[in-house]
Amino acid sequence: MSLTGAIVATAVGVLLPVILSTSVGIVALALGKSSEWTLFGVLVISFAAAAIGGAVVVTVLLSRKHRIARLQADFIANVTHELRTPLTSIRMYSQTLEMGALNEEPEMFNNSVRAILRETEWLEAMIDRVLTWRAASKDMDSPNMHSGCIATTVQAAVDRFLRMIRGRDVDFQCKIDTEAMVTFDEQGMHSIVLNLLVNAFKYTGKNKKIELRLFDFDEHVVLEIEDNGIGFSQSEEKKIFDPFYRVDSRLSGKSSGAGLGLAIVRHQVILHKGSILVRSEPGKGSKFIVQFPAVPVSKGKSSAQNNEE
Ligand code: ADP
Repeated sequence: MSLTGAIVATAVGVLLPVILSTSVGIVALALGKSSEWTLFGVLVISFAAAAIGGAVVVTVLLSRKHRIARLQADFIANVTHELRTPLTSIRMYSQTLEMGALNEEPEMFNNSVRAILRETEWLEAMIDRVLTWRAASKDMDSPNMHSGCIATTVQAAVDRFLRMIRGRDVDFQCKIDTEAMVTFDEQGMHSIVLNLLVNAFKYTGKNKKIELRLFDFDEHVVLEIEDNGIGFSQSEEKKIFDPFYRVDSRLSGKSSGAGLGLAIVRHQVILHKGSILVRSEPGKGSKFIVQFPAVPVSKGKSSAQNNEE
């Protein structure tokens, strides 16, 4: 039964008798002279209140079930679509190589092999996203926090991103300039940087320009990832961090996704006791700013000394 059907059935099957019996109860209380009539009126009204309570609970449970079923169906469709895109490219390039059409064209042959490797990286990143979210949502992720400089980890994520976009026309600038110590989990930090970079790439059209800046500021280490993409309105700013949420697909262009990237980023930022904010303007681009608290210098030194010992 559809949700609307269930609501109509509840209204007809429960609300009408309840309204009638409540009216009878009120009339009995108002007109009844004896205590029997008062007792009867109170009983009828209590029964009606219990029935209304039950109907409300049933309606809430039904709509919740309906919402979860819809989310699951959307999720499966979105993930499948997201995985299919790189798979289609891999098959296309592999078939071209298999036919031997490029055997005499070493340049194009190499380009095809590179494209297959690139699409495989995307596939792996998409699968990582889903598995990371599964672990996070079931509290199964066990971060291995340690203090150190995050520059190397951020660079590793950037290198992976560069492998994902090689051969693509992107003006990518990266400025890593930090010496401060942060308490962080290697995989979690990698996932924050990669997810933000992947989004910057996905939601930017032609003439892609992406900038990553990592710097120390006021007892914090700041990570900024800025793009000149499609952006989004202010009303979306809070919602985009919700799991499975995607801005209207007409605005997001043809980019596929399951709505998990920013939910993972927010989860990881909270684990790192950091904060995240976004500035975005439709048609102009977006800038995600993540701040991590730097380990105070004296504490940082002793932790580094402990590590050396
Ligand atoms: P996904 O990209 O898989 O849809 P995310 O959780 O990473 O899921 O992002 C949620 C939504 O936020 C996206 O669907 C997109 O509409 C919007 N979004 C995220 N990053 C950007 C960005 N850099 N520019 C414009 N829109 C973005």
